[in-house]
Amino acid sequence: MTGWIDSHTHLDSDELYPQCAEVLQHAASAGISDMLLVNSEAHEPSFRRTMEIVRIESEIRKYASLGVHPHHALQYDTELEKLLTSFLNQERVIALGEIGLDFYYDFSPQEVQIRVLERQLQLSLERNLPVVIHCRDAYSLLAEILEKNARQWRGMIHCFTGTLEEAEALMRLGFHISFSGIVTFRNADMLREVARCIPQDRILIETDAPYLAPVPHRGKTNEPALVVHTAILIAKLRQSTEEDLSESISQNFQALFRT
Ligand SMILES: [Zn+2]
Ligand SMILES: [Zn+2]
Repeated sequence: MTGWIDSHTHLDSDELYPQCAEVLQHAASAGISDMLLVNSEAHEPSFRRTMEIVRIESEIRKYASLGVHPHHALQYDTELEKLLTSFLNQERVIALGEIGLDFYYDFSPQEVQIRVLERQLQLSLERNLPVVIHCRDAYSLLAEILEKNARQWRGMIHCFTGTLEEAEALMRLGFHISFSGIVTFRNADMLREVARCIPQDRILIETDAPYLAPVPHRGKTNEPALVVHTAILIAKLRQSTEEDLSESISQNFQALFRT
């Protein structure tokens, strides 16, 4: 069976955590080889749950990325930073994130989002950790901020929904581009074009579960097993075999996160 990697999933979420053993079982049956677990909330129980799931015995290789999401930027203070950095020291934490800008929801004021993003970017540079970036409606400002803080980055733009030009600007800064189930949605022609065109050595896929379930499960609770639908669609778009795409994604994930 082809082995797929879910590069961004929230198993600590209230939707998935109570059934995480089953969810891991489904993923193993669907041929998921690796997953990157990302905390859903900016508090200790969310970090702790994420690390607890990472350590569950299973045939799937599990890693964590921890950070403070732009939605929670207002909660960022020295105490939260201390908590975050103590968790970043734990084994199998391979990235810092998700961090970034969300100017679609604006749950935190934009200037606070920018300050908290820059602070966490500095933490990632100090620790030589790759970053997992969340961005909505702010790709050009994001690229500016990234470039101001370092010329070259190791990181992924998770759930990318921008244009090909925006993807290219971020790839020039060193980033990998990750596609979620949105690429399977009926109205996503522009995003499918990006997924068809970007270089094979920069592509990753993810669920962002429990959100964004791909077609034909759109609207239901998402889980890592369903990344297969996104994978198959992208292989078709790129006129690639599933084996070739899966091989490239595995290489890209390893190159980025040095797993
Ligand atoms: Zn996100
Ligand atoms: Zn996410």
